[in-house]
Formats: sequence, structure tokens, C-alpha cells
Amino acid sequence: MDIKSKNINTIISPELKTNYKNFPMVPRVIFGIGCFGQLGEILMPKRINSEAPFIFLVDDVFEGSGLVSRIPLIFNDQLIFISADEEPKTDQVDALVYKIRNDYDQLPSGIIGIGGGTLLDLAKAVAIMLTNKGNAHEYQGWDLVKKPSIYHVGIPTISGTGAEVSRTTVLLGPEKKLGINSDYTTFDQVLLDPDLTKGVSKEQWFYTGMDCFIHCIESLNGTFLNAFSQSYGEKALELCKEVYLEDLHEDEARNKLMMASWHGGMSIAYSQVGVAHAMSYGLSYLLGVRHGIGNCLVFQHLKEFYPEGVELFNEMKEKHNIQLPKGICKELTNDDFEIMINVALSLVPLWENALGKEWRTMATPEKLKSIYQKI
Ligand code: NAD
Ligand code: ZN
Repeated sequence: MDIKSKNINTIISPELKTNYKNFPMVPRVIFGIGCFGQLGEILMPKRINSEAPFIFLVDDVFEGSGLVSRIPLIFNDQLIFISADEEPKTDQVDALVYKIRNDYDQLPSGIIGIGGGTLLDLAKAVAIMLTNKGNAHEYQGWDLVKKPSIYHVGIPTISGTGAEVSRTTVLLGPEKKLGINSDYTTFDQVLLDPDLTKGVSKEQWFYTGMDCFIHCIESLNGTFLNAFSQSYGEKALELCKEVYLEDLHEDEARNKLMMASWHGGMSIAYSQVGVAHAMSYGLSYLLGVRHGIGNCLVFQHLKEFYPEGVELFNEMKEKHNIQLPKGICKELTNDDFEIMINVALSLVPLWENALGKEWRTMATPEKLKSIYQKI
């Protein structure tokens, strides 16, 4: 046997059989100021026929705005405005799917989500449920989706969540807040036009941007860290620091935050988030606290887990004069705390990433309660 074939034998030897995740990525992305103007030409070849519409799910904050007049509606395309005041729910997805099936004799050519994480997640979930039987809550979990979704496009109008690149759509169901994590969730096309993020309020810009910052801190300080995640996480963190601690021109800041969101999303895709996200899910489940602000509310009290991250966070908060609400958990009963603690502790992979296999010795119910009580 020559050396070459011996090496090949080594490579395929059973001891080396591995179990790495074969990760789906967004196959097409367009980036640049004004690229929204190219949406019509991007969609044209994806039209199945003139009867199969594109359904545009659009954040209702844009109702009556110039953006709406630029949406390339033709044939019997439909535009549905949706409020992002509350995070997306499984029954909202079911209602949209029911409406779309009722309105047309055939499947649409595709679903386009225009908005923040809320609208992006709704678009992903509707695209999945149009080809899969039953109700959306039956698919909350990992790899439960059986059939490919229809073509779907994500167009973020606020930067930070990474929902534009992720393989999940986070939904509030009757029993849990959990994503539909599947290979069919990921968008087929993403359009990144930094100008679309122009109207975001300063507070929301901070909260959603900090979601990205916290993704980086939790991924880079986690036990699941690997070179893949690290390469994206470090870049995203560097961009967040530039955006929130330097005095960039606002166009540059918008461009960079959009790319930070993308890289932050890629970083957690191949690792996990950590303590702030686990506890923020508890706040969101019991009190409906939104993802971005919920993460901030928890993260400010996590100095013992992420000392450098919390210090940077405080610097950013001060620079932009952000006052986080206080006393959110002041009126809660012991039962309320228990619900939040149970939701948080049920997210095992997040804790394992944050604190290692022995996480239960550190993340005790008492510890979590003492953190919630500070919020
Ligand atoms: P969002 O979609 O909840 O929107 C926040 C607010 O900003 C809303 O009031 C919205 O109307 C407004 N807004 C958005 N774009 C605007 C614009 N250009 N001008 C003015 N106002 C604008 O915000 P988000 O923080 O991006 O998303 C949060 C959601 O994302 C949560 O539901 C969370 O669970 C989800 N999420 C999903 C993933 C994922 O991987 N799928 C990751 C993180 C978070
Ligand atoms: Zn997040």
C-alpha cells in the first residue's frame, strides 16, 4: 500500500466518524444603499406564473410611507401590513396561512418579509407552513419540518437580531416560546439595504443592536466556541464597538450595524447564545418583554458571567444616554418567578454553552431569582 492510499484509509476509518452540523446558508444576498430598487428584477424569475402571487408581509410602521410605493407589486400580488408591537405567535402564523390558502387557488410564488426580526420570523414561518400540514406550534423544536418551504425573502429594516441569516423562526406558542429550527427555515434570498433602517428610534436602535452585541459576547465566551463561530463573532463585535463607541458618520454606522447583525447571526448559528438569552426568554414568556430590551435588562446584571462584556455594555449605554426601565419584576409573586426560572432553565444548550456541563451547580433557581429581582 502506498502512502497516499494509506492516508485515505485513515480519513474514512470509522473511529473518525464525526457528527458536525451541515449548516444551511442564505444562498443569495444583495447589499448596498438603494438596493431595494432591484427587488422587482430579483423576484421576476421566481414568479411561477401570473396567477401565483408574491405575498409581502410588511411592518405596519411603513403604512403610507415612501417604502410602500416602491414595493414591486404586479399581477395579483398582495401586501399585508402587520404590527410588530408584539412578538410573533404560532396562531398568527396559522391565521396568515389560512388567509393565503383561501385567497388563492394555488401556492404563492413566494413570501417576502419586510421589517425587523418580528416580520422576518413571520415570513419564514408562513413560508414553511404553506407546504406543511397542521399548525405552526407542532413544528416548534429542532428539525420537525418535513417538506421544503416555498421561496422566501427577508428584507430587514432594523439591524441586530441576525434573523436574516438564521435557521430558526422564534414563535410564541400556546405552551412555549421556541423556534422552528430547520434547514427549510433559512431565507432563499436576503436584501440588505441600510437605508431601510433610517426611521428606527434611538432606543430601538440600541436594544436591537445590543441583541447583536450580546450574541457576540455569549458566543465568544461560550464553551461551544470554535474557529467558525469565532471568526464571525469577533468581526461582529468589532463592528458593534465601532458603531456604539465611536463617532461614525450615520451612513457608515448603518452599513456597519447591518453587517454586524449578519456576522453575529452567523456566529451563534454554529455555537449558541448564553445566560442573557436564556433569562430573557423567561421575561418574554411571562411578561411579554420584547427580545432586544429583555436581553439588555438581564445582561446589565451579568457581571459575574461576562465581566468585560457588561463593562462595554455600560459604556455604550452611557454614551447614548439610554435609560433602561426599572422595577419590571417588582410586583411579581413567587409563582411568577418560578415560571420565569423554569422557562430559562429549560433552555439546556444555552446554559451548557455558557457554563459548561456542570452548569446546574452555578445556575441555581436561587441565583436566577436574585438576578430577576434586580430587574
Ligand atoms: P421588531 O421587528 O420587533 O421591531 C421593533 C420595533 O421597531 C417595532 O416597533 C417596529 O415597528 C420598529 N421598526 C422596525 N423597522 C423600523 C424602521 N425602519 N423604522 C421605524 N421603526 C421600525 O425588532 P427586532 O428587534 O428586529 O426583532 C425582535 C424579534 O426578533 C423578536 O420576536 C425575537 O424573538 C426575534 N429574533 C429572532 C431571531 C432569529 O434568529 N430568528 C434572532 C433574534 C431575535
Ligand atoms: Zn438574540
